[in-house]
Amino acid sequence: MKIAFLGLGHMGLPMARNLAATGHEVVGFDVAPAAVAAAADAGLRTAGSGTDAATGADVVLTMFQTGAQVLDAYRGADGPGLLEVAASGALFIDCSTIAVDEARAAHALAEAAGHRSLDAPVSGGVVGAENATLAFMVGGTDEDFEAARPLLEAMGRRVVHCGGAGLGQAAKVCNNMILAVSQIAVAEAFVLGERLGLSHQALFDVASNASGQCWALTTNCPVPGPVPTSPANRDYQPGFAGALMSKDLGLAEHAIASTGVEARMGMLARELYRDFAAGEGAGQDFSGIINTIRAESA
Ligand code: NAD
Repeated sequence: MKIAFLGLGHMGLPMARNLAATGHEVVGFDVAPAAVAAAADAGLRTAGSGTDAATGADVVLTMFQTGAQVLDAYRGADGPGLLEVAASGALFIDCSTIAVDEARAAHALAEAAGHRSLDAPVSGGVVGAENATLAFMVGGTDEDFEAARPLLEAMGRRVVHCGGAGLGQAAKVCNNMILAVSQIAVAEAFVLGERLGLSHQALFDVASNASGQCWALTTNCPVPGPVPTSPANRDYQPGFAGALMSKDLGLAEHAIASTGVEARMGMLARELYRDFAAGEGAGQDFSGIINTIRAESA
């Protein structure tokens, strides 16, 4: 089986390496020459262009930044696209985090070209990509999911079939909206506790064993001390950067607008993280929003 892996950035390169380590024939490409050089240094076979990598491929994996990049690459901008050159009936797996309707458009293009396709965004970050412990949220048919499963399991620990086309992206956007809202709520509670004279440890000891318990508190605790491994203990080095949270909330906003859901908390979180990521927060862990809340509290 020939696998083309396109997009060898922070996530894509370690994912491609883990896939190649299983013995599959993996050929990588990235439009950034430095990324191709890094991949070659890491022992990955590389091609001179995306279509070179994908010509005759049975599986085409993409790990880009945006939906526009995915759709352009599938269709081809100035020449043949990936859909045109892949083996007939190839399986296209897009792991980028993109909008649900962009993912559905990608599925439709693949289907019209006689191929199979899945949306398979991930969570777990660069560490998860390096250690093959990513979680994959997958949208597509049962048959295509089962065909992709062994490949995804080579790069991740948890692979969940969420439903039909676009529903992997839907699961990702809903989960990250919960995360954003809960991280802000935890941060506000710590700042309120500070103003009331409550120690961080006392609030943590109560809330982590009570109904306030959540990942944003017990793993990503936004104050130093209670959870020694949380980014707050290393000056908010990510972790999950504010820029990426802001990007994902932009996708949530798009989904909220297109469905007409009354998601006031999600929209407020979108606004707060957009502001956070417009400044230094872009490169900080998203739990660093506690510093904005503290600074803006009179
Ligand atoms: P990145 O910018 O490091 O990598 C994306 C790569 O795609 C770049 O190297 C870019 O040059 C390449 N690319 C773009 N168009 C291309 C094309 N037509 N052909 C070949 N290469 C092309 O981004 P990343 O951090 O690896 O993230 C990738 C995706 O994963 C994003 O959608 C992001 O939202 C998502 N994601 C990232 C993280 C994270 O922690 N970094 C976590 C979960 C999900």
